[in-house]
Amino acid sequence: MRYCSTRGGVQGWGFREVLFSGYAPDGGMFMPETLPTLTPDTLRSWVPLSYPQLVQKVCALFIPEEFVPRQDLEAVLSGALSQFSVPGAVCMAGLGGGLSVLELFHGETLAFKDLAMNCTARLLEYFLCRESRRATILVGTSGDTGGSAIRSVRGLRGVDVVVVFPRGRITSVQERQMTTSLEDNVHVFAADGSSDDIDVPLRRLFADQDLVRNHGLMSLNSVNWTRVLVQLAHFLYAYLQLSGLEKTEGDALPTLEVVVPTGGAGNIAAGCIVKLMGVPLRLVAMVNANDIVHRTVQNGDFSMATSVKQTLAPAIDIQDPYNMERVFWLLSGRDGGLVKGLMEEFQFSHRITLPDTLHKALSSVLSAGSVTDEGIVETMQRCWRESQYLLCPHTAVAVWHHYHCPLPPGENRCCIATASPAKFKEAVQKAGLTIDLPEEVQALEKMATRYEDLEQGEDWGRRLRERIESVSSVRQRGALFYSPA
Ligand SMILES: *Cc1c(COP(=O)(O)O)cnc(C)c1O
Repeated sequence: MRYCSTRGGVQGWGFREVLFSGYAPDGGMFMPETLPTLTPDTLRSWVPLSYPQLVQKVCALFIPEEFVPRQDLEAVLSGALSQFSVPGAVCMAGLGGGLSVLELFHGETLAFKDLAMNCTARLLEYFLCRESRRATILVGTSGDTGGSAIRSVRGLRGVDVVVVFPRGRITSVQERQMTTSLEDNVHVFAADGSSDDIDVPLRRLFADQDLVRNHGLMSLNSVNWTRVLVQLAHFLYAYLQLSGLEKTEGDALPTLEVVVPTGGAGNIAAGCIVKLMGVPLRLVAMVNANDIVHRTVQNGDFSMATSVKQTLAPAIDIQDPYNMERVFWLLSGRDGGLVKGLMEEFQFSHRITLPDTLHKALSSVLSAGSVTDEGIVETMQRCWRESQYLLCPHTAVAVWHHYHCPLPPGENRCCIATASPAKFKEAVQKAGLTIDLPEEVQALEKMATRYEDLEQGEDWGRRLRERIESVSSVRQRGALFYSPA
């Protein structure tokens, strides 16, 4: 299993190099050069597996044994998935009428990112320990990635994590999950701008190959392939639990619809990969008023709006769904030249129209929809009324689809629940509903915080670069922060 860039400039990389990267050196994103096919028999034999067991199976397909012996892989991944508040790390809630909600938010920061982030961080730690290497993780966040990255690597020896969040555009729980981490290896910046504004200097820093090499700079955003890889398990688990394939025989497999609240499109990219591996999924990407993915699927209009709209579902307030590049690459027949042309044009002009063939391929694999704040509130209310089930506003974006698009008779539908409503009290209150906040969320209010501001007009890239250089020079001067094991 080898990896290449979606822009055609890099081939033949091994898993380890890809794990320790962000964007590929040509500005593209890493993808496996080939995708394995899952046969109906394999899928049927996986039906009894738990979610953590499925993560093992999926990772084993893409991480060659020469890099991580199977026994080690099992230990690393089961360690990563052991700190969740429900057995098996995830829950499937049946809400009636063919609708199930796959709860992926039972980790420490109450959002689905904890699952893939913990696995990625543990794999990182595995290589760092084995090779006595160091790394500097640089993460931009629309709200949930930052907290999840910090919680999975704080206190890890040999790693610094630099996180930039959009000040005033995330909930107080999201903010405090980042700013209350006082460990020396955690560096939090609050930027006066949107998460897309933050993405610009970050991309520049990742494009600087000297900086990347000299300071072990890497990403834990879903730019990082390993995050997407672990997320393949979400879709497989949903399919094996809900499609009813255990009642079928031979080559015919039933279809399952999976509806995904979509922001940076890492999760939906994972869904597309699973579909191309032979699993008959009908994928629906749901967005809020930031609707670029919806317009792209609808009519090939991959263009940013003039600004990011702030909505009740802030973790998907994103105009640059960067993982769509992976989807475009897969659906263009892995045409690196085409993708390079398209994405460079998009980065320059912020708007492109997909070529006809690519748009046709995209709309045959994905459908999409866009939901207003009003729609989010109505969906949260209706779901509470009909099923006594409290949705987070992002999950509501997915469940809106269920209430507005009838399901073919006899089929099931799975909405991915990306966060706990406890993280989004403001939206819950707007819907006239109430929630008892878990103790660990209440405790955040009283904890000490530490972060630095990045103001408008300042050179954010320079501030971040200085920090990256200084943490790694401190490390080189004699491991001030880290005592040897
Ligand atoms: C990150 C996030 C999303 C979007 O996931 P992508 O993989 O970036 O599309 C959706 N909901 C919540 C709560 C999130 O934190």
